[in-house]
This record gives sequence, structure tokens and C-alpha cells, in this order.
Amino acid sequence: MIFGATGDLAIRKLFPSLYRLFERGRLKKFAVIGVARRPLTNDGFQKSVKDSVINALGDKENIDEFISYFYYHSHDVTDSSSYVALRNLANQIDENYNLEGNRIFYLAMAPEFFGPIALHLKSDGLTEVKGFKRLVIEKPFGKSLESAKELNQQIRTAFSEEEVYRIDHYLGKEMVRNIEVIRFANAIFEPLWNNRYISNIQITSSEILGVEERGRYYETSGALRDMVQNHMMQMVALLAMEPPIRLTTDEVRSEKVRVFRSLRRVESNEINDYFVRGQYGAGTVTDEQVPEYRAEPMVDKESNTETFVAGKIMIDNFRWAGVPFYIRTGKRMTTKSTKIVVQFKDIPMNLYYQPEKKVNPNLLVIHIQPEEGITLHLNAKKAGGHLDAQEVKLSFANTGIQAMNTPEGYEKLLYDCLRGDATNFTHWDEVAYSWAFVDKISDVWENTKSVNFPNYVSGTTGPKAADELLEKDGFFWWPVKNLEVDICK
Ligand code: NAP
Repeated sequence: MIFGATGDLAIRKLFPSLYRLFERGRLKKFAVIGVARRPLTNDGFQKSVKDSVINALGDKENIDEFISYFYYHSHDVTDSSSYVALRNLANQIDENYNLEGNRIFYLAMAPEFFGPIALHLKSDGLTEVKGFKRLVIEKPFGKSLESAKELNQQIRTAFSEEEVYRIDHYLGKEMVRNIEVIRFANAIFEPLWNNRYISNIQITSSEILGVEERGRYYETSGALRDMVQNHMMQMVALLAMEPPIRLTTDEVRSEKVRVFRSLRRVESNEINDYFVRGQYGAGTVTDEQVPEYRAEPMVDKESNTETFVAGKIMIDNFRWAGVPFYIRTGKRMTTKSTKIVVQFKDIPMNLYYQPEKKVNPNLLVIHIQPEEGITLHLNAKKAGGHLDAQEVKLSFANTGIQAMNTPEGYEKLLYDCLRGDATNFTHWDEVAYSWAFVDKISDVWENTKSVNFPNYVSGTTGPKAADELLEKDGFFWWPVKNLEVDICK
């Protein structure tokens, strides 16, 4: 059952992902009920599903068979009286398709509806099934620890923690899932993966786009809640966690939670030493003049909302003491790119150092998107000449056959949910710890207006203060340009 079945997420991601599962034979006994307010017939709804699949994946021979499994129920989720009709339809379909009472509820809707829907699903008997019941819930999960707790309480009246699948679509990305494999399946990395050999880790997730039509939502969120609390913190946890004793959901999640528990508490008066906020001004992006954030639709003319965050996260445990994890995310930056750079410490004595030819530190770069791959930066002898060292890059690109078959994040997550594997969804404890961390920052920022907004020009790498954050520790952000390699273009 997809709530919000006429919305952007359903059309752009969910229907094509379901089709791919169907095409691969991973969806056999199923039916989908789309729920939204606008009046639509089943035929009209099936046509929109067909268009969405064809737009995303091109013409498909068996598309008519696929859409025959889709039904539509026009329903305002705030109207208590219409859940009974939805329950009757679901029971009927369950019987017709012999679904054994297994039911997944996907909430692809604005977050204010999550709690009320969950309560109604229970009170109107939609969760009374003899098979499994699961709730898939989109971000944002609350907008602070307080509101997330309230939402969680409402959800938990109808679903147990094991039945709740909180989506963080970064956890569906091929290279984010690869972090664990790179770390735990390679004897050359695991012994080095600690504060003796790693000097710092940098995670950058930048966008070229501005806020577009999402001004209303973004004004209540900002980059901190939209990107840091979930995606960036999840990547930090995967990079920093201890090897789990098994790759089971509980073991992996509990190691991630231990990372969140080790995050250094930053007191209110220190926030601005550890975190930098930015808001884009007007500028030129891909040869086009673009407006400042405050001139975007549905944005306050004096908005205090950050469109950029850079931060230094310290993990106070044996493995990571003293190693900064720098994170950076923003809109209207130079490139669309998500990369992780693991910078290793310098060798004890550099035989090859000459002032004008500095030997580079070793870097392991994980390219998350849009290119997918890994690059290892080493030093090797320059061909011919003397024993001069030069940087070489060993690269693996997830292109060609592998990439053609790389399922979209949503397809993988939907498949995980169908199989009952919640490893790549966020547990309540992870959500709670990361909100507690982020709340400290937003409390300070919301109560102190940033006088210098806008403080970076669109089409740049963000405010100067973000560079200074690293400079004061003796580091710098590795420029994305230097990290690109031919096969990753
Ligand atoms: P959207 O395009 O605004 O769609 C909202 C859907 O909810 C529509 O189908 C709308 O249909 C339905 N709806 C609204 N009020 C309703 C009501 N009272 N009763 C029943 N249905 C109602 O939103 P979206 O972009 O798809 O986003 C959905 C959720 O996914 C949000 O939580 C968002 O933060 C999250 N998300 C979206 C994306 C993305 O790529 N779009 C990415 C990550 C997360 P009617 O108007 O016909 O009722």
C-alpha cells in the first residue's frame, strides 16, 4: 500500500523500482494499492504507473501485465471515515491474489501525516493481518529529538521496532553499502583503519542545484536536518564502526549505535568552533545567472536557514581518538558529487621530499555519486629520470556491466523490506542519537541570526570559514577536481 501514490517520489522512484523487481522475478505474488486524495480510476492510476516506468526505463514488453497489479483508492488520510473502505479493499485484494495477509505500508507523504496514518492503520484494523506487517517511512523522521520521539511513539502503537523500516536512501547506494566490504574484506585496510595511520576523513556531498520548488520544506529544515542528521551521520557511522561479529541486522546496527554514543559532545559555546553554516548568494552556475537563496520561491527574504554545513566530528574512542571526521554538504556548489576521502598519515621520513615536489599522502577515495568507484592514491617512481616520486591512482569504476545492473537505491531497499532485512534502514536508537547531536547545533544556530548571510557565492565550494575549519588543524579539503580520474568521469 503506497500512501502518496500520485506524488513525486512514487512516480520517479517507487514505480520504476517495483517494475525492476518484477522484471527480475523478485516480485511474484503481489498487488499494490495506491492511495492519494485526487479522484482517479484504476485505469487512470495504472496509466500513470505505466508512464512512470516508461519514462524511467524505456518501453517494456510486459508493462501491461505489471500495471494490472495496481489499484487505486482515493482517500484523504486525515479523514477517519475512509480507512474502513481501504481495509475492505485490501482484504479483498489479499484474497484475490492469495497474499497470505502479508502487508507493507509505504508512507511516501509529507511527514506530518506519518503519525496519524499509523494510528489509523491500527484503529481501523488494517494492521490485523495473519502474515507480516511492515511500515516503510520516508525522511524526515521528525525535526528534532523531541518531535522524533513523539512520532516514534505514535508509530510504535501500531508497529513494533522490528516492523518499522526508516528509509535513508543513502543506505541503498551501491558505494555506501560497499564501505563495509572495502573495510572488512581487505587485509590491507583493516590494520590501518585507525588513528595510528589515518590523519583525517573527509565526506563531501555537494549539489549544483539550489532549493528549487522545495523552499517551504527547506525553510523548516536547512542543510543540517536535511542532510547531516541522516545521510552524513550514517556515512560517518559506517566508516567508524567496529567490525560487527556477524553481518546481521542487530549486530551491524549495534556497532553503528556505538559510534553515535562515542561522538564528542560539543557544548553550545563551542558549536561555532566545530561547525560552519552557509547560505548561498547569487552567482553563476553552468553559465547561468542564479538568484540568492533568499530570493527563491517560498523563502523568507531574511531567512536564517543554512544551505551549507561543514563540520568537524570527533569520535572519542580508542580507534579514533584525535582523528577528525570532516563533513561538508551544500547546495549551489561547483559540482554534484558525493565522495569520501580517507587521508593516511605521512610516512615517518620522506626520502623523496624536495620543496617543489612534495610527496602526496596516500588517499583512499570512495566515489559515492554520480560516479561510483574507488581510487587509491599512491606514490610511484616517475618513468625514466631519477628516483622522483609521483602520484599514481589505482582506480576501480563501477561502470560497464556492473553499473548497468546496479539497482537503484530504492529498488534495493524495497527488496530488503520485502525480505524482512532491516540492516540498511535506521534503527530508532540511531535516529535518536543523531538528533541529539544535531539539536545542539540547531539550537545555537536558530537562536543566533547569522549576520553575514549570504556568505558564499553560488557555484563555489562554500564559505571561507569552511576552509579555515581544516586549516586550523593543518589540513585542507581535497579539491574534487584532483580526485577525479578518467574512468570516473
Ligand atoms: P509530493 O510530490 O508532494 O507527494 C505527496 C503525495 O501525498 C501526493 O500523492 C498527494 O496526492 C498525497 N497527499 C497529500 N495530502 C494527502 C492527504 N491528506 N491524504 C492523502 N494523500 C495526500 O511529495 P514527495 O516528493 O513524493 O515526497 C513524499 C515523502 O517522501 C516526503 O516525506 C519527502 O520528504 C520524502 N522524500 C521525497 C523524495 C523525492 O525524491 N521526492 C526524496 C526523499 C524523501 P494528492 O494531492 O492527490 O492527495
